[in-house]
Amino acid sequence: MPTYIITCKSDATPEQVAAAKQHAKDQGGKITHEYNIIKGFAVEFPADKITTYGRPPLSETALLASANFTLNLLPIRLAHRLQALRNLPFIVVADPNVSRIYGNYLRSLSTLLPWQHRTITTLEEEIEFTSVLAELVSTHQNTIPILAKGFVQCRRYISPEDVTKFLNTHLRARIGTRLIAEQHIALHYSSVPHFDPGASPTPCPEHPSFIGVIDTALSPAAIVDSCAGFVADTCEYQYGVRPKWIVDGEPDTVFTFVPMHLEYIVTELLKNAFRATVESGSNQPIVITIAPEPPGAGPPDLTLDPPAADKGAFRGDAIKPLDDNAPGVTIRIRDRGGGISPDVLPNIFHFSFTTFNDDSIDDVMSKTVSSGGGRAQKDALGIISAASSGASSIAGLGYGLPLSRAYAEYFGGGIAVQSLYGWGTDVYLRLKGVGKIH
Ligand code: ADP
Ligand code: MG
Repeated sequence: MPTYIITCKSDATPEQVAAAKQHAKDQGGKITHEYNIIKGFAVEFPADKITTYGRPPLSETALLASANFTLNLLPIRLAHRLQALRNLPFIVVADPNVSRIYGNYLRSLSTLLPWQHRTITTLEEEIEFTSVLAELVSTHQNTIPILAKGFVQCRRYISPEDVTKFLNTHLRARIGTRLIAEQHIALHYSSVPHFDPGASPTPCPEHPSFIGVIDTALSPAAIVDSCAGFVADTCEYQYGVRPKWIVDGEPDTVFTFVPMHLEYIVTELLKNAFRATVESGSNQPIVITIAPEPPGAGPPDLTLDPPAADKGAFRGDAIKPLDDNAPGVTIRIRDRGGGISPDVLPNIFHFSFTTFNDDSIDDVMSKTVSSGGGRAQKDALGIISAASSGASSIAGLGYGLPLSRAYAEYFGGGIAVQSLYGWGTDVYLRLKGVGKIH
């Protein structure tokens, strides 16, 4: 299993070394060795580890090991999220939406505490633990619109930089925590029926290419097609127009990745491309090009973006590198929707930034917000209430690009946006395959 040796500078103080270790742990890493002379430590990261229990069905021993691994990581990750929420200004935490999320974390942590300092040794315990996990995952399902609403309401009391800083750390940590929990749940369901005939049948059909939530033969073209169909439906509903799309390049490409993550990113990027196409009155199809990368292709060259203000600011959080030799895929989404104007471009990766303002959204707004407020606030709040009423919208939360980038970077990829103002936009989504399948 790959383990990373992290060393600190020779003049690092003990506090700095401790902070580096804490950071590694906060990322879900497990420190396995300490080297005092080089002021370093060895750390295993779960993104590697989640594939090391082997292909399902797992043996009972491997399943218990996975449960214990998950149990080791989750309480500390939840505790860190709680601590970050507590460090927000009091008035922000007091906002009903933010405090609802805080309450969710507190409850989730308290359901795990009885399990702490325990080792899961029997299948009965594992089944009970998995049901606690399933509960936890569903509790945190709807976090994003709620948090978004909370931060829009509090924007008078906290600077946009502080919100961005908090959300970047928080939402990235959340991606990892969910992945760890969902991975064990998936392994459980694809394993238990094989050695425990009395267990309830697996809830989803088994795919031989799946290892938990990871698909070792994921087809980006298939995901693009199904997401584009969904986005086209949304467009038809919202604008009465159904843009066309074309998938070219090498549509037969498959790679190892988490389908849920790819679906999220592709849907968000396609929504932006479809919206621009419709709003600019273009009838040109959106062209999605799938380009596989050979193993060991090296780091992505995404120098076009991010905008200068963001450069390097949030890089520390992704779990990487995984396996530099894992083949990756680049997906280019090209629209002829008029591009992005130079005054908008620097903001597109900021949370809550949107240029979406539909009349129907203003209608929703007039019912939701009685007091004044900027246009952006109105738009964001309007769409949030539309979102929480179950309607799917083409845009408006302003979370699509920053969150997609967080997902892409999680396994070492990235997103670059190249706008040809007056013509159209190219978005390059570079994904690194999840490495090391044992
Ligand atoms: P939202 O879609 O909710 O507005 P996003 O984060 O997805 O939030 O995008 C932020 C903004 O970036 C959009 O409001 C839009 O102005 C701009 N944008 C993103 N993609 C494109 C595109 N393909 N063409 C034109 N503008 C775009
Ligand atoms: Mg969007």
